[in-house]
Amino acid sequence: MRRVLILGGGTGGTLLANLLARRPFDVTVLSASDAHLFQPSLLYAALAGASPRLTRPERRLLSRRVRLVRDTAVRVDLRAKRVRTASGSVYESDALVVATGARAAPAQIPGLSETAARFGNYHSDVAAALRLRAALDAFRGGTIAVGQASPICVCPPSPAEGVFLIDRLLRRRGLREKTRLVFFTPYPRPYPAAAIDALVAPRLRALGVEVRTVFDVESVDPATGTIRSLEGDELRCDLPVIVPPFAGAAIEYEPADVLDEDRFLAADKATLRLKGVDDAYAIGDAAALPTSKAGVGAHLQAKVVAAELTGKPAAFDGRTHCPFDLGDGTGVFVTSSYSARAVPCRPRRLNLWMKKLMPRVYWLSLSGLLEPIFDAYFALTAPQAAPAPPAPAPPREPAAR
Ligand SMILES: Cc1cc2nc3c(=O)[nH]c(=O)nc-3n(C[C@H](O)[C@H](O)[C@H](O)COP(=O)(O)OP(=O)(O)OC[C@H]3O[C@@H](n4cnc5c(N)ncnc54)[C@H](O)[C@@H]3O)c2cc1C
Repeated sequence: MRRVLILGGGTGGTLLANLLARRPFDVTVLSASDAHLFQPSLLYAALAGASPRLTRPERRLLSRRVRLVRDTAVRVDLRAKRVRTASGSVYESDALVVATGARAAPAQIPGLSETAARFGNYHSDVAAALRLRAALDAFRGGTIAVGQASPICVCPPSPAEGVFLIDRLLRRRGLREKTRLVFFTPYPRPYPAAAIDALVAPRLRALGVEVRTVFDVESVDPATGTIRSLEGDELRCDLPVIVPPFAGAAIEYEPADVLDEDRFLAADKATLRLKGVDDAYAIGDAAALPTSKAGVGAHLQAKVVAAELTGKPAAFDGRTHCPFDLGDGTGVFVTSSYSARAVPCRPRRLNLWMKKLMPRVYWLSLSGLLEPIFDAYFALTAPQAAPAPPAPAPPREPAAR
């Protein structure tokens, strides 16, 4: 039986393993954690006081036909399909799939690790989300600055969702009048995609949120709450809520040039095959792809690789479909693909309701049993490709003399 080794038991790795388990493959998932975290719940755990079950044991989410090894990959020889782990074990396979996600990398910015240790954030882990919740519970007025530290961010709506949910929390607690709320972003407008910015920017204005664009965080001083930008701006606050930069897993690869400077892997954007290596793939947040890092992408990419491994060529189309909580009881979906920019979406209660349903559907979706429903849903909600630019006008005949 063909051996497939999947590194990472998160959204993409777990679904892929379960899809392959139905076929004659010998599947192993090697994962650094045996607790599977549903990351989107961190937002509500930190900012809305929700206490859903954030994690489940990975073993319970995997088919019994899948072997689970709890260990951390530290060195991967992609050509030999050989993986060395932190415990000193070595695993070999016929095909290798890297699904190790993206990790919060606050150490990239001076002072951000200390800031996260003190105030928490909603992009790292449960402990950090609960620290942020405690910091918000203790807040009685002053300045809160919310924003993303670098352009690479898992779930692009999440920074703006953060400011909307904090605004709502402050209003409910009667603290909004006593709070200066600032949203900062490295982009030239509050939301990078124009169709979504058309909803976000006016809402921020209406809520009285001060916006700082083109603000790339250079350093943070947790003692004084001062955030400095590469552009020379300075922002002082009592409570910094900072989405950290992200990087790929700390794994050494051979060949090394498969990694970009942020440790994400160069994969073909359609087939997810690692460039220059046979029978090796990267899916989900671990891959450097020209689309958003999101669970939806990890899910769809797992399906592509499952098809590829079973000899049915398939292609990932760059699809995103991220639910976005606008904080006023409505939501939108940010939907795009390689060929279609994010399309406009009307804020609706139904969209938010679907987002709230996600934690329940998520665990079951990892089994692969819901694929017929997802296929129909994604086909129904596919964004339309941008119309081709008009053909150039034919050269004019020289005027007859
Ligand atoms: C606040 C927040 C809100 C979000 N909201 C949404 C949303 O609404 N919609 C959406 O689509 N996405 C959302 N996301 C993003 C989504 O959760 C991620 O994009 C998705 O989980 C990525 O899946 P993955 O399989 O690539 O990686 P992950 O799910 O992160 O899994 C990576 C796995 O690899 C393991 N691992 C890491 N390093 C190693 C190693 N060296 N060796 C072995 N194993 C390793 C980890 O332990 C983990 O099990 C959100 C994320 C956050 C933080």
